[in-house]
Amino acid sequence: MLYCERCNRLTESERCPGCESSIHLRAPQADDPVLLCTVRYILATMIEPLLEEEKIPHSKVVLGSSALLGGGSLLENYSFYTPYDAYMGAVEMLTGIFAEDDEVRLALREAAGLKET
Ligand SMILES: [Zn+2]
Repeated sequence: MLYCERCNRLTESERCPGCESSIHLRAPQADDPVLLCTVRYILATMIEPLLEEEKIPHSKVVLGSSALLGGGSLLENYSFYTPYDAYMGAVEMLTGIFAEDDEVRLALREAAGLKET
């Protein structure tokens, strides 16, 4: 597992899924902020209280509305970050809770550089 300092992403491959380069990759440290997922406002309002309830440390960054995520929406998108040592637990929790929600599952996989098969 490698960590991209520039994109705050983890990857299993030798290229970062964000910047598609290997220049910024290094071994992850426990307190590195890792991109958990980028979701629409409505999903962010569901995810944030879950993280709080589980006492998973996280930060939320507001992005402008993005054509990448469905487009056309005037609502903002949000990116969640967790420290590396909390990331796996957060993914596991959200994957379980949103097992039936393709949008969240896709967002989690996309952040980890995995493509839905
Ligand atoms: Zn990168």
